[in-house]
Amino acid sequence: MKKKLLSYILILILILSSVACAAPENTAQIATIVTDTEPKDIEPNDIELKGTELDEAMIHFIDVGQADCILIDLPGDNEILIDAGNRDDADTIINYIDSLGIDDIEHFILTHFHEDHIGSAPDVLEEFDVEKVYIPGTTADTKIYRDTMESIEEENAELIKAKAGTSVIDTDNIDFEVLAPSSMWYSEMNEFSLVAKLVYGDTSFMFTGDAESVSELEMVRAGYDLDVDLLKVGHHGGETSTSQVFLDEVTPEYAIISVGEGNTYGHPHDKALNRLIAAGAKIYRTDEQGSIVAKSDGSNITIDKAATTNIPEPAKEEPINTTPTANENASYIGNSNSHKFHSPSCSSVEDMNENNKVLFNSREEAISAGYDPCGRCKP
Ligand SMILES: [Zn+2]
Ligand SMILES: [Zn+2]
Repeated sequence: MKKKLLSYILILILILSSVACAAPENTAQIATIVTDTEPKDIEPNDIELKGTELDEAMIHFIDVGQADCILIDLPGDNEILIDAGNRDDADTIINYIDSLGIDDIEHFILTHFHEDHIGSAPDVLEEFDVEKVYIPGTTADTKIYRDTMESIEEENAELIKAKAGTSVIDTDNIDFEVLAPSSMWYSEMNEFSLVAKLVYGDTSFMFTGDAESVSELEMVRAGYDLDVDLLKVGHHGGETSTSQVFLDEVTPEYAIISVGEGNTYGHPHDKALNRLIAAGAKIYRTDEQGSIVAKSDGSNITIDKAATTNIPEPAKEEPINTTPTANENASYIGNSNSHKFHSPSCSSVEDMNENNKVLFNSREEAISAGYDPCGRCKP
């Protein structure tokens, strides 16, 4: 009996102690849950996000003559500057950015090292607080290149060698990603151009630097979603950019050409303008309209200037192909390795690696994609 009583007492003590031990644990667990829930009740993040959604993204194509300079003013601390005009554009660029009350640039994109793109980069780096600088993986043997690299070092900015796939901004509402270049080497400096796509809410934009048809074809072949609302036209509207294969994917509603009045290059080229018109784009030009500002509320884009009415007559002898590439009807076969194109019966086609085959519907399409005719079959 005594033993039994003792064991009852022992069991009772055990039960009590286990309850006593469990109790603070449970309390602690509840406390943790409450702490987790508290900020969700206040929802500070949601309030910030709602504020961001109501804001507008402003894209300023600053008139720097025969050169490029684009300021992307995004909600939050997300200022992007793409290129910095020629050397004598420093005052124009600095005054423009100052007038917007901006004193720091989070992302400075130098598309490539031609002077009409990095000319005032040293001045911009000296004047503003620049956080990150993005450059392509190449160099140039020029004074402006050396000056620019020195200024990046002095500014203590983070230097990023960007290429296809580099993400610059990735938030709920803003996605800014580099789509080109994807190759290690090109024979042309322009093809090294960093090409970037901005998605802001439901609106989208592409900035191409001076990328030409070789890089454009690479972007098409990489399978990127290239369809955007607004295109900064490649290489100041030059003939060897804005190729048909590329344009068929991009189908821009708005096309902005950064170009100098009376430039010696004949930019923008009638053929590039005609391809854009045939694609249904409204064209805006800095040589006619000065600086151009595109505004997006996340759903719609508005532009502060009227589209140009200065449109060349379409060239009749070279019909513009607006139908998408139909592989089975291809009349010419290109080699993405050699950038030569052939008639399908050419002996070179038999030896060609299947992965290197690019199909073209017309000669024009092959040439506008940067391909040269084969010397043997003379297509
Ligand atoms: Zn240029
Ligand atoms: Zn260039």
